Amino acid sequence: MPEDKRRSRPVHPLTDLLTYYRDLGVAELYLEREEKEEEKISLKVDRAAGRGEAGTAAPAPPVPSASYTFEENAPYPAAQKSAREPASVDLPSLAKEVSSCEACSLCRTRKQTVFADGSPDAKIMFIGEAPGADEDAQGVPFVGRAGQLLTRMIEDGMGLPRKSVYIANVLKCRPPDNRNPEPEEIASCRGYLEAQIDLVKPEVLVALGKFAAQFLLETDEGIMRLRGKWGTYRGIPVMPTYHPSFLLRQPGQKKDAWEDLLKVLAKVGLAAPARKGAKA
Ligand code: URA
Repeated sequence: MPEDKRRSRPVHPLTDLLTYYRDLGVAELYLEREEKEEEKISLKVDRAAGRGEAGTAAPAPPVPSASYTFEENAPYPAAQKSAREPASVDLPSLAKEVSSCEACSLCRTRKQTVFADGSPDAKIMFIGEAPGADEDAQGVPFVGRAGQLLTRMIEDGMGLPRKSVYIANVLKCRPPDNRNPEPEEIASCRGYLEAQIDLVKPEVLVALGKFAAQFLLETDEGIMRLRGKWGTYRGIPVMPTYHPSFLLRQPGQKKDAWEDLLKVLAKVGLAAPARKGAKA
């Protein structure tokens, strides 16, 4: 096509932007999540205080979550607490302790806590982010759409019964509207997951998504950089991989997640099951 013809074709601004990113070498982009609930609340508060209106000072950035105010605008003091040491020395009593936890504001909006699922003798422990609506309703991790995919990855992909592995989350309570966990919520819950890992003593940890990977590896790196590479948590090998919710949105990335799970199987000395249709 002659150069001038190509130039005269109307170019959508988004196409322009994507081309720009592609030329910079950016291969993947993410859609932004919906505005977070607490951001909406903070902006409302800012507006009520006369900021952020047209013609006045520039909108203030969202108030950091440490100053998050709940429905009745009462500060929630426990939200400031940092890591706590659970008193329990076995999984059943730890689960009981978690069920009455009020260390952060999520205790006000949860239906119930979501402790774990699977075998306490598991060699492989999967760690997700936080319960969603289905998990909050049933009290079991990974039972919604993402959970069904995780179950297929474990059972059909890895050839293991779901009940033979151990599954837990960074947070034990559902964040409202499935928003991202806040740092102080992770800090409040930290001791519980650490105790679960200590008590289960898995041979391998699988970090599902950014929050679990960053928690275990104590890093700010994104999951794109972390996935597929072994790390360690207190001497236990950690394989970061994509979260099943991400794989539901980006099924093209399942191939990479599968490679990660093959590494996990190899690490615990298990052979990958024969693929359907593969020649014997
Ligand atoms: N996503 C998670 O990270 N954990 C669950 O339990 C369910 C969905």
